[in-house]
Amino acid sequence: MEEIVTIKKIIPITHNVRAYQVTKPKGYTFKPGQATEVSINKEGWKGESRPFTFTSLNEWPYLEFTIKSYTDHNGVTNELRKLKEGDELIIRDVWGAITYKSEGYFIAGGAGITPFIAILRQLNSEKKIQSNQLFFANKTAADIILHKELDDLLGSNVHYVITREKHTAFEKGYINTQYLISHITDFTKPFYICGPDKMINEISKVLLELGANFEQLVFEK
Ligand SMILES: Cc1cc2nc3c(=O)[nH]c(=O)nc-3n(C[C@H](O)[C@H](O)[C@H](O)COP(=O)(O)OP(=O)(O)OC[C@H]3O[C@@H](n4cnc5c(N)ncnc54)[C@H](O)[C@@H]3O)c2cc1C
Repeated sequence: MEEIVTIKKIIPITHNVRAYQVTKPKGYTFKPGQATEVSINKEGWKGESRPFTFTSLNEWPYLEFTIKSYTDHNGVTNELRKLKEGDELIIRDVWGAITYKSEGYFIAGGAGITPFIAILRQLNSEKKIQSNQLFFANKTAADIILHKELDDLLGSNVHYVITREKHTAFEKGYINTQYLISHITDFTKPFYICGPDKMINEISKVLLELGANFEQLVFEK
């Protein structure tokens, strides 16, 4: 299935991330955390599809993607950066394994936060955010996507980790064995992990070593 959608609104989120709000095809639904293959409806770009996660909720009248652009090479996200309201995208079927099971720990790196934005927004709209915790690693504080909203959603249950800034008000370092031992109290709960492949592999390995059950690890397999 392919559907052409129109960009209605573009919202700057960080220095290299923008939210794209687009028209929603009739009857189009997804589970919070899921994604679709997106391409730009422009000559030369129609066949170049890349996966992006919905950060809107099903009850919203439009779809939203929150997308980090890599401007160091001529890929799709660089081209997306040039788009304006009124331009068109092509979206396809919904897919993805990241969906909410029950209260647990969300671990994200950079743009890997997007499936968790959808899940946390949904939980919040149902007043079910409970004691879910988020550990969110970024290179610098300026890279934190939707910082204020995450603070509002999670309060003291959001923990930012900054990897590459010399002076930061946040915890500096990596989400590694030591970090997980000192922050996780219950290894039987679900762990939702999303970020660069290397980060997912390393964190999953450590979590399993620390007693987490493979069945409780939720990531894009
Ligand atoms: C299920 C899923 C959901 C996703 N959801 C989101 C989302 O909601 N938001 C989001 O921002 N991202 C998301 N991503 C990641 C997103 O799909 C990628 O960022 C996107 O495919 C990059 O496309 P591109 O054409 O710009 O880069 P590609 O050309 O496809 O390159 C991909 C990566 O390789 C590097 N790279 C490749 N070639 C070069 C080069 N010549 N020079 C320098 N670097 C290079 C880029 O830095 C980039 O990290 C998701 C990924 C998956 C698998």
